[in-house]
Amino acid sequence: MPGSWAQATYLLAALLFVLSLAGLSKQETARRGNVAGMVGMVLALVATIGLALDHSERPVPVTGGLILLVLLIGGTIGTWRARRVEMTQMPELIAILHSFVGLAAVLVGYNSFLTEPADPAHLVEVFLGVLIGAVTFAGSIVAYLKLSTRIRSAPLTLPGRNVLNLAMLLASGGLLVWFLGSHSVVPLVLMTVVALALGWHLVASIGGGDMPVVVSMLNSYSGWAAAAAGFMLGNDLLIVTGALVGSSGAILSYLMCKAMNRSFVSVILGGFGAEGGTVVASDGEQGVHHEVSAADVAELLLEARSVVITPGYGMAVARAQYPVAELVEKLRARGIDVRFGVHPVAGRLPGHMNVLLAEARVPYDIVLEMDEINDDLGDVDVVLVIGANDTVNPAALDDPGSPIAGMPVLEVWKAARVVVFKRSMATGYAGVQNPLFFRDNTSMLFGDAKERVEQIMLAVGDAVSKAEGPYSAAAEAH
Ligand code: NDP
Repeated sequence: MPGSWAQATYLLAALLFVLSLAGLSKQETARRGNVAGMVGMVLALVATIGLALDHSERPVPVTGGLILLVLLIGGTIGTWRARRVEMTQMPELIAILHSFVGLAAVLVGYNSFLTEPADPAHLVEVFLGVLIGAVTFAGSIVAYLKLSTRIRSAPLTLPGRNVLNLAMLLASGGLLVWFLGSHSVVPLVLMTVVALALGWHLVASIGGGDMPVVVSMLNSYSGWAAAAAGFMLGNDLLIVTGALVGSSGAILSYLMCKAMNRSFVSVILGGFGAEGGTVVASDGEQGVHHEVSAADVAELLLEARSVVITPGYGMAVARAQYPVAELVEKLRARGIDVRFGVHPVAGRLPGHMNVLLAEARVPYDIVLEMDEINDDLGDVDVVLVIGANDTVNPAALDDPGSPIAGMPVLEVWKAARVVVFKRSMATGYAGVQNPLFFRDNTSMLFGDAKERVEQIMLAVGDAVSKAEGPYSAAAEAH
């Protein structure tokens, strides 16, 4: 493909990536955004392959064959993984994919150092590309291991860890000076080792509760690593795409920090969410809880005028979104006002609940953000907390000593009645006991969320048939 055509295709692809990001910012346009991104990526690949064939030093069929082979291998593994991955495992998959971007930047850096003339600007590009790439690579691997519970998610708290990070950065600065002066590969290799240790230590020091921010921070790093690779390869599209990913990841990290009321610096310095992913009640119970049955909840719902559902990670694990959507439809058909309140970090990745609810075809206009619904919760008759825990924990507001103190939460306890769906009295992701469970207006409905919602639906059907008599029961059956 002639260079000018390739550049024009790159420009079009870059435009489609911008449109994709704009589309992804709203649920209604997310599908369109995804399509724009996919078309942009196909165009980018076609132009890149065209350019590679054009500049190939080997016969075109050999280069073409090699590219086809790697595309087939990569495409097969990617499709296989993406089809098998559960929605709840998405953050792990994203983390491991970020590690590939980091690794690619390191490899491009070494390749570019060994094959291109060593002018100072190019050497700085190589050094920064390898540095960011190695930090992203090691950090993403640790995030993957933590998110998939292959290693403990508690923060590693080495003495003087901030000084350690600073020392590693200063050492990298010193190695850059040596590298520029000597043009030798030795300082580059030493810096790679230091950067791998830095990436490892940075993420190992961060606790489970802050993982959402870490994942989006690594997303940002991987974008900058790609942009650095773009500079080294002289590829404009990679620079633009890397900058888009880098800045959108940074904005997302900022928004998430705001949603959790944490400063970005304190997240990086680590320590929050001491034992993420625990399934035992770590603080012991804080009073007596009150249990209800699915039939009781059905009765409660039929008497209510307004109901709010706050979903969380447990709804995703149980795949309860489908029966939840059906129950909502039934209740709305009876004139009951039903809305969803979604916390920004409910589940295991940003927007997790919105995706699940959209999948189950819940209308967008009844799915509200935490800030949009919190003020209304005092007027709500029943709140159903389906598999959420940390995101509805009043200790975040009432207990300054709590590990999640200061995090804004859905203030569900203000409603007349609260029903919490979960399997046991275990803690949530941050490993903190939840005083909501022991409040007078809270009842616990134990069991798998999907089974319980299905039982409620049956009980609602029965109650309605009984109330309306045998004729309407038969009519409903038809
Ligand atoms: P939590 O992870 O705090 O709690 C989920 C609850 O679901 C558990 O208490 C569990 O209780 C229950 N549960 C699990 N399986 C089932 C099931 N099959 N049926 C019914 N209940 C079930 O959920 P939240 O969504 O409230 O909070 C999210 C947490 O994850 C926050 O701490 C957040 O910081 C963190 N996080 C968020 C990310 C994001 O980007 N959104 C990314 C990474 C972490 P039991 O075991 O008793 O059933």
